[in-house]
Amino acid sequence: MTRAGDRQWNLVLTGPPGAGKGTQAVRLAARLGIPQVSTGDMLREAVASESELGKRVKAIMERGDLVSDEIVIELVRERFARSDCGPGFILDGFPRTVAQAKALDELLAQLGRSQITVIALEVPEAELINRILARGEGRADDNEATVRKRLQVYQSETAPILEHYSAGLARIHGVGEIDEIESWIAEALQLS
Ligand code: AMP
Repeated sequence: MTRAGDRQWNLVLTGPPGAGKGTQAVRLAARLGIPQVSTGDMLREAVASESELGKRVKAIMERGDLVSDEIVIELVRERFARSDCGPGFILDGFPRTVAQAKALDELLAQLGRSQITVIALEVPEAELINRILARGEGRADDNEATVRKRLQVYQSETAPILEHYSAGLARIHGVGEIDEIESWIAEALQLS
C-alpha cells in the first residue's frame, strides 16, 4: 500500500453533490495516511453542537446554499494548522467557489506547499439525484428540492473552479464500482 512517504500530498477532491467525494476521500486518506478535510463535516459538527457558528450556518445548509467564503476559508486555515496535515491532506468539498480556490492558493503559498492536485469526479445529473435520494443517511439537506438547489449551486458557483485548475486537474469518471473508481483515481495519482 502506498503511504504518504516523502511526498507531500495537497489534494482536492471535487465534483457535484452525490459524486462520491466523501467515499473516495475516506479511502484515499487511509491509503495515503493523510487526513480528509471535509468542510461539510466540519459545518455539520458545528450545527450538531449548536455552537455560534452552527447557529449561523444551519438554515443556509438546509436550503442547499453555500456558507460564506470567509467562514469556510477560516475553518480550513485553522484545520491546516494542525500537525496531522504536515504530510498532506485531502480537501473534500472545498474549494466550492473561485474565491475559495484563490484563498486556498494563497494559504498554500504561505505554507510553502503550492503544488496542488485536483481530482474532479464526473457523474451525470440524473444519476446524482437518484444517488442522493437513495443515500438515506437522513441528512437534513438530502430532500429533492434541496438536492436540485445544491446541483444548481454546483453548476453556477463550483464548476468554474475547474477552469481555475486547468493545470494539475485529473477528471475521473465517477460511475462504476467504488473499488474501480478508486483504482482510476490511484492511476491518475500514479499510486499503483
Ligand atoms: P457537503 O457535505 O460537502 O455536501 O456540504 C454540505 C453543505 O455544507 C453544503 O451544501 C453547504 O451548505 C455547506 N458547505 C460545505 N462546504 C462548503 C464550502 N466549501 N463553501 C460553502 N459552503 C459549504
